[in-house]
Amino acid sequence: MKTINHWIGGKPVEGVSGNFGPVYNPATGAQEKQVAFASVDEVDAAVRTAKEAYRSWGTSSLAKRTSVLFKYRELVDAHRDELARLITAEHGKVHSDALGEVARGLEIVELACGITEKLKGELSTQVSTRVDVAAIRQSLGVVAGITPFNFPAMVPMWMFPLAVACGNTFILKPSEKVPSAAYKLAELAAEAGLPDGVLNVVNGDKVAVDALLEHPDVAAVSFVGSTPIARYIHTTGTANGKRVQALGGAKNHMLVLPDADLDLAADSAINAAYGSAGERCMAISVVVAVGDTADPLIGKIKERADKLCIGPGDDPASEMGPLITKAHRDKVASYVTGAAAQGADVVIDGTGYTVEGYEDGHWIGVSLLDNVTPEMDAYRDEIFGPVLSVVRVETYEQAIELMNSSPWGNGTAIFTRDGGAARRFQLEVEAGMVGVNVPIPVPVGYHSFGGWKDSLFGDHHIYGNDGVHFYTRGKVVTTRWPDPSDGGINLGFPSNH
Ligand code: NAD
Repeated sequence: MKTINHWIGGKPVEGVSGNFGPVYNPATGAQEKQVAFASVDEVDAAVRTAKEAYRSWGTSSLAKRTSVLFKYRELVDAHRDELARLITAEHGKVHSDALGEVARGLEIVELACGITEKLKGELSTQVSTRVDVAAIRQSLGVVAGITPFNFPAMVPMWMFPLAVACGNTFILKPSEKVPSAAYKLAELAAEAGLPDGVLNVVNGDKVAVDALLEHPDVAAVSFVGSTPIARYIHTTGTANGKRVQALGGAKNHMLVLPDADLDLAADSAINAAYGSAGERCMAISVVVAVGDTADPLIGKIKERADKLCIGPGDDPASEMGPLITKAHRDKVASYVTGAAAQGADVVIDGTGYTVEGYEDGHWIGVSLLDNVTPEMDAYRDEIFGPVLSVVRVETYEQAIELMNSSPWGNGTAIFTRDGGAARRFQLEVEAGMVGVNVPIPVPVGYHSFGGWKDSLFGDHHIYGNDGVHFYTRGKVVTTRWPDPSDGGINLGFPSNH
């Protein structure tokens, strides 16, 4: 069986802890690989390697860094298909969707290629007589990234390209369920000329994560994953003196007003709820239907959902693949049966779905629940599967009150033709990313991505300008080149004149 090792100091490093985790193909249900789990000592060795590499990378010229990043951009571009295949084999998402995540990750590599613009400082001359002030931003040192299973390539690329462009060295701890794409990204970085030790991949579980959170030489931690772990990472990392950005889970609502284009709303709901089998932090999981919108909208969603093709991700005909594990599939199914028991109407029941020839795969069909209420588990929890709930409300005000009562605030969307209502929604809704007639408003790479409330712990959103700020710290230099007439004793507090 193939073993995925660590990548440390520019080369593969075999795990010595003796602990391994299984890596499944979700379409067949078979374990096809195993991944090495790092011990505390192995994490320490990786951090020491990254610390040593920082001595020269931290002072390398911007020209050197960007020349590597431009080559890296070309290499990732040339390996899109291979990366997408690795993603599909371990995550299960369909090939076109996997290609999409590689493309969105590449956006951040492209942003990092322009780091020279982002790191330009500020200079104020003559703030006092013969005194100038320069504000610069410098790298932090060794920084770490811990990533979730649902975007094996994109989420790591949200982090390390900008971090290393800013002059840091990086330790990536990818999800143990989908380790191969991250490993390939590190191999390609070495091929692009990134010096050994600047980007390292340490595989593992909680042991490796805790070792990073507690290591005195790790200056900052970026995390993307579920809310309970995000909260833990933020609490533990900051208690250990680290800068932390921890992006958590979500329950994204899509508000549909009676004047909306219902065909567009139905298409959008299908794409955003069932794309990637609902395993997206920006998936729409609740449609809030205002007034008499619900019946026609549900009809249109059902008509479209019934035609979806669910199958292995490497079959070009498939539009939706399997879920990540059997246990997760069973948990998702339990929300559908639980919703029925709690009084929801099951318009489409996706439980019990199988694919011929792939009977052991982690399959579930799409589900559509109507008359869901805020007390039901299907509404309260992040299901992270292809289950769409419809909540009926009478007015816009009831909708916004419902949405703003959610503990999460990642993405949200409004569907309407009324510009005034859309504007009001943008200002009133408590979420970090808002779409107007756009169901999955993932910001482009040169803006930043992040939620509110339990969807993000820390002050910085990820990538874009916030990413540059997260991976650098400010320094302000006040300079005087004295004239012979300056000098003399004055114990007063310095003032500007
Ligand atoms: P997860 O929280 O289980 O795991 C994320 C990472 O944390 C993995 O690398 C894992 O090894 C590690 N981890 C897991 N348990 C840990 C523990 N007890 N202690 C320390 N580390 C631990 O998340 P997941 O299941 O891999 O990913 C799905 C979740 O991620 C969903 O909740 C989804 O909404 C969220 N997500 C959020 C965003 C966002 O941008 N806000 C993006 C993608 C995914």
